[in-house]
Amino acid sequence: MDVGICIAGGVEELERVDIDMLHDIGIGSLFVGCYENEMRWHAEEMAAFVRSAASAGFEVCIVPWGYGKVVDPDPAIDSLYVDTHREQLQIDSRGRRCHKACPNNPGFLEWFASQMRTTAWMLEAHGFLWDEPSFYYSRGTWACRCEYCQRLFYAAENYQMPRDLNEHVRTFRRFSIVMFVLAAAAAVQAVDPRLYSLVMPSPTLDTTQDNTGTADWSQLIECSAVDGLALYVPWQEREAEPAQAIKELYSLASRGQKTTNKPCHIWIAASPRPQDRVVENLLSAHEAGVPRVVLTDYTTIFRAPGADRFISRLQDAIARVSE
Ligand SMILES: [Zn+2]
Repeated sequence: MDVGICIAGGVEELERVDIDMLHDIGIGSLFVGCYENEMRWHAEEMAAFVRSAASAGFEVCIVPWGYGKVVDPDPAIDSLYVDTHREQLQIDSRGRRCHKACPNNPGFLEWFASQMRTTAWMLEAHGFLWDEPSFYYSRGTWACRCEYCQRLFYAAENYQMPRDLNEHVRTFRRFSIVMFVLAAAAAVQAVDPRLYSLVMPSPTLDTTQDNTGTADWSQLIECSAVDGLALYVPWQEREAEPAQAIKELYSLASRGQKTTNKPCHIWIAASPRPQDRVVENLLSAHEAGVPRVVLTDYTTIFRAPGADRFISRLQDAIARVSE
């Protein structure tokens, strides 16, 4: 099993990342957060970091954050594009603009693809992770009812898009997200056809309620542009038993594949605190047959109190699961 780490702190954090230490403890892959607003001014620093990590032998995967906030789990991450292109934002079922661009808006799609091509060209990474591409949903209010979505829905279903989130609308949203991922993957592969694309669906242990457009993983994983899934295990939020949650989520992902056998790896929140159970969770994932675990993130693990003592425990655990 490979153990990776997410570096989410932006350019400022990259300067402090101890590449040699990560190498010594057995980390094999780096998932580097790449922020829209930072890339405007700090692309060179990002590129230098990715280059040094790749030449040190790490697999480097870029995680674009911001960028119209279609791929963006964290509402706190800003997007200058969202601030300056109100007319391209999703419209919710109450007629309001959301802080998220619409993945069906042609203007946004063109800008996003061109940004990803530039990013792929500047940062010589191994792949990209599309983190929770989604439509807006909050307490029964959903998006998107913009003119493009309405038009596409009518073309697909032959009736006006309804006000309620019925099965046809859910299907339409899932299909739209798959098309968005196809466009994103095509953009980076236009630069280098070897660049892989992973998708992280919205984290859930219950896939019966698809509110964001990504809860049906089978459609995502069967998509030709997707090379694998990354699944965040929300055991802390759900008060689930972590070993059980890891096992369930992983078998759910494997069962979701009807005609493919693409790798699904998992993400777990990590820190030196005993209640985060990092070592136990690594062992459970290994036991469940998970090919890779990504620990999130560098700051919460290595810049936390107790990090010095934790490093050797983590190193031992990685040695055990890497055998
Ligand atoms: Zn729309």
